[in-house]
Amino acid sequence: MRAEPGHYKPLSAPVGPEPVAMVPVVQLYARNVPGLVFPAGTDLLQILWCPLVHEDGRYAAHPRLHWRNSALTAASAAAGEPPPSHTVEEDYLPRPCTVSPTPAVEYPNWDLPEELSELLDERFEDMKEELGYDYYDVATTQQSKVGGYPGWAQPPDWPDCAGCGTRMEHLLSVTASEPGGGRWLPLDDRYPRQDEDATPSWRAEAEPGTLDAFGHGMALGDLGGMYFFVCRVYPDTPFTHRYDC
Ligand SMILES: [Zn+2]
Ligand SMILES: [Zn+2]
Repeated sequence: MRAEPGHYKPLSAPVGPEPVAMVPVVQLYARNVPGLVFPAGTDLLQILWCPLVHEDGRYAAHPRLHWRNSALTAASAAAGEPPPSHTVEEDYLPRPCTVSPTPAVEYPNWDLPEELSELLDERFEDMKEELGYDYYDVATTQQSKVGGYPGWAQPPDWPDCAGCGTRMEHLLSVTASEPGGGRWLPLDDRYPRQDEDATPSWRAEAEPGTLDAFGHGMALGDLGGMYFFVCRVYPDTPFTHRYDC
């Protein structure tokens, strides 16, 4: 897997013509994410990216997305570790980690229409006063996710499909805030364990040392993320991405 030129590692010597190995970022099997629609004949989604800054207007890693058939992929896979990149911007190099998919109902954060936000504002404030948490705490997430709303750190920038012109579907987000404040950190991963009557789990304090051991460990511009979109109209499921920070 080779990456394009026009990329660099900040504050370092130019990369030169030699190819840079892509790094694996996301791997999801259909069996682990039942809510994710896979194109016919595929059951494995892989995202890799070139771990350098790219002069493509986004100044971030450059991703590729692959829908695969896991049986065929396993049959032709090479044994052993993938080759390490000879150069890498550490912000875009995830450490090896696993995912614990947890279904959740999410409501729009940045994507909440302004009129609706104004209409509900009083209720949000009442809720905060009565219960101590607000809409954004309990109903939205900016963490890595499949489906739902993109984990924007900035105002929404939904792409339209270059082929059919319709707004593309949010496939998944890879965000810096993972696991972040721990709102969506599974209870089993928390320390110390919370009692039934203790503080609501989404605001329970995780032990900092434990928190540090979770997640992909990437900074992604401190608070930003990479958001992936697809069009389902075409059989090859074209994709595009957005990045903000
Ligand atoms: Zn590159
Ligand atoms: Zn399209």
